[in-house]
Amino acid sequence: MTEAGEVRLTAECGLVIGRYTPEVAGELEEPVSCPSCGATTGITLIAFGRDARLLCGEGHEWADDHIPASAVRQMMHLVTTGQPVVFPGVHLQVMLQPVLDEPHTLAKMPPDGEGTQSSEQDWWEIRAGVANHVPVFTECLNQARKLAFRALPGDGDLYARLYPSAGGSALDAHMSVLLAALAMYQASYLTRVERIRELPLADVAALLRPGRSAALRKVRPLAVDPDQHVHLRVTDIDRLETSSPDDWDRWARTATDLVAYNIEIAHRWLKVLQQDRYDPDQDIRVFRLDDRVFEDDTTWYATVR
Ligand SMILES: [Zn+2]
Repeated sequence: MTEAGEVRLTAECGLVIGRYTPEVAGELEEPVSCPSCGATTGITLIAFGRDARLLCGEGHEWADDHIPASAVRQMMHLVTTGQPVVFPGVHLQVMLQPVLDEPHTLAKMPPDGEGTQSSEQDWWEIRAGVANHVPVFTECLNQARKLAFRALPGDGDLYARLYPSAGGSALDAHMSVLLAALAMYQASYLTRVERIRELPLADVAALLRPGRSAALRKVRPLAVDPDQHVHLRVTDIDRLETSSPDDWDRWARTATDLVAYNIEIAHRWLKVLQQDRYDPDQDIRVFRLDDRVFEDDTTWYATVR
C-alpha cells in the first residue's frame, strides 16, 4: 500500500453528502458526522494512496465509503484553482489532468517516403473514422484523456507524479496520455479494430511494455485536413523523435500505470455488477470504462491549426 499523493482538506463549515437510501430508492442529503462524538464541523478529509480517512477536531478517525480518495483530491483541486468547492460524490466530475502550455500547431506531413503510411493504414483510418464518428486518433486522444481523468484523483502515486500542485510533471502527464493514445491507435490498427470502444485495454498495455514502446515513436496518425497534416503537434513530433530513452521509458511506464489502474477499477465495478457471472479473466474493453457523468472531449489536443 502506498501513501503517496496525500491531501488534507478541512471542511470548517461541515460537509453535506448524498447517500443512497433504499427506503426512498434514491439519495438523501445528510451532513457528515463523527461516529464517536457527533461533530459535524471542522472535519478533515485525508486522501493517501487510494484510500481516504476522516478526522474530527477531537482526533477521532474513520472511513466512509461515500468519501473516496478521488473526491478529496477533486475538492482540493477546486480549492487550489479558486472554484466553488462542491462535494463531487463517488463519481468523478473534476478533471485534474493538467494542460501543457505550448503551441498546439499540428505538424506537416513529411515529404513522400519517410514516415508516411501504407495505403492499407489509410483505408483503415477512413473506415475507423466512420465507425467512431470522429477521426480515429481523435477518439484515441479522447479515450486516453479519460484514463487520466479517472486515475489522477483516485491513485495517489499517479497524482504525485502527474499533478503539478502535488509536485507532478505536466509534461509527463501530457506525454503519458499521448503514448496511451498512440498505443490505442496502433493496437486498433494491428488488430483491425475499427471502433476504439471495442478495443481490449490489454492490447494497449502490450504495446507500452519495455522493449515494445519505442516502436510508438514512429506512429503517425493522419489528421483529416486538406493540407494533410499529421495528427500530432509539432512539439510532440519533436519529442517522439528526440526524447531520451529514459524519458520515453518513464512516459511508457506511466501510460501503463494509467491503463492498469483503469483495468483494475473496471474489474472492481464488474464484480459488483455481474455477481455470479463475473469472470476475472474477461477482457476490459474501452467502452467498459464509460462514466455517465464524464463528457467526451475530442478537442483538447488540436484547437489551433
Ligand atoms: Zn469525533
